[in-house]
Amino acid sequence: MQTLANYIDGQLVAPQTGSYLENINPATGAVYSKIPDSNERDVDAAVTAAARAFPAWSGMPAEERSRYMMRVAQVIEEKLDAFAAAECDDNGKPLWLARTVDIPRAVKNLRFFATAILHTRSDLHETDGQALNYTLRRPRGVAGLISPWNLPLYLFTWKIAPAIATGNTAVGKPSEVTPMTAHLLAEACVEADLPPGVLNIVHGTGVGAGAPLVAHPNVPTISFTGGTVTGREIARTAAPMFKKYSLELGGKNPNIVFADADFDKALNESVRAAFANQGQICLCGSRLFVERSIYDRFVEQFVAAAKAMTVGDPRAADTKVGALVSKAQYNKVLSYIQLARDEGGTILCGGGRPDDLPERCRDGYFISPTVITGLDHLCRVNQEEIFGPVVSIMPFDSDDSVIEMANSTPYGLSASIWTQNLMRAHRVAEQLAAGTVWINCWLLRDLRVPFGGVKQSGVGREGGDEALRFFTEPKNVCVAK
Ligand code: NAD
Repeated sequence: MQTLANYIDGQLVAPQTGSYLENINPATGAVYSKIPDSNERDVDAAVTAAARAFPAWSGMPAEERSRYMMRVAQVIEEKLDAFAAAECDDNGKPLWLARTVDIPRAVKNLRFFATAILHTRSDLHETDGQALNYTLRRPRGVAGLISPWNLPLYLFTWKIAPAIATGNTAVGKPSEVTPMTAHLLAEACVEADLPPGVLNIVHGTGVGAGAPLVAHPNVPTISFTGGTVTGREIARTAAPMFKKYSLELGGKNPNIVFADADFDKALNESVRAAFANQGQICLCGSRLFVERSIYDRFVEQFVAAAKAMTVGDPRAADTKVGALVSKAQYNKVLSYIQLARDEGGTILCGGGRPDDLPERCRDGYFISPTVITGLDHLCRVNQEEIFGPVVSIMPFDSDDSVIEMANSTPYGLSASIWTQNLMRAHRVAEQLAAGTVWINCWLLRDLRVPFGGVKQSGVGREGGDEALRFFTEPKNVCVAK
């Protein structure tokens, strides 16, 4: 069984506690590696190494930082198969998905920010003939980066790349549920000769390693992606310390299909939006609103498509829906399906474990794509984030009524609209409370655009220039003429 290590000051090291957590493959339910159960002493060692590396790294020409990052990206790309297999075994997602989406996107994150820093602009404001103001942007020091389990390497590199590209050094805390690709990333950094201390990775639980990182006095910047409850806890620690923080949190995203939509495209993409990555993407369209005149036909075909999805071994090429990430997540999703029954919903398909799983997956955490109808938009199932292969479909009668229902949750991460009416598309998009609105598409990502949510989906924005600004501090220099 493999024993993972922390990555501190350029070295792969054991946790100072000497204790380890079990890492479980969710497709089999079996323990397959051991993860450092780090504590505040490991975090402190990592922060100390990062602080020591900061002057040289931040003072290095951007071109050189860029070259290091491009080398790390190159190593990951060369080991694509190993990374994809690790992500599949850790997370339960289909291997083909990790291989074609998650890992290539992680490589893209590194390359995007490694090259973005070669093309930045500076601001200059002239004050009516009296002065010139120019704005310098400087890295903030050691960044604390905490990521979740659903898109492990993608979201980890989404934070690491802009942080170190702009000259910060970093301490990353990947999810203890999916640590394997972070461990491979550490090995890739060693192979790419990334200077010691620029990136440090401390494994462990949220309470054991995440909380001390957030509370560390020498970590002025915190970038967190995860659940809303954890985000609240992090803000409680970081705000009184006047840290700069960004919180990317949960979602309960509406997917709105108007009668004038391209029916087949809306149907196929809505199925993908509901069940991709077992429904464990913060951007999944878990509330599906369909205009009443096409509702029956749409629901019938949606259910047929959901039933046709192969649920099975994530390693198999024809698997569309793999395992949920953990037993806890599996039980949580099942409890929401039961709640849907209790709230008067009708389960049109799925609703539990498939009965034709292969032998290897007998003890894994699988739930068939589940479609629920008949629930009020204000019931708990339609208000709370389930984060599994479960979608609730509701009919609507007018633009205004669907906008009201769509905006009725405490979340506001993303939304999708399917219509061929251009005016309606723009009007509805403007009125939806969401950080991202997709029109006639879903999960189309451009790394340059601001990314984040409103309401309880988060604070701050990541992506492109927003990330470059987040990880740097502006300083105005006023020069009298
Ligand atoms: P989580 O909040 O349980 O954990 C996320 C990370 O925070 C983990 O690394 C965990 O160890 C750490 N953590 C837990 N408690 C902590 C504490 N007190 N202090 C510091 N760190 C702590 O989230 P999860 O279950 O791993 O991920 C699923 C959630 O993430 C869902 O709610 C999903 O919507 C959200 N998510 C949001 C986005 C986005 O961009 N908005 C993207 C992906 C996932």
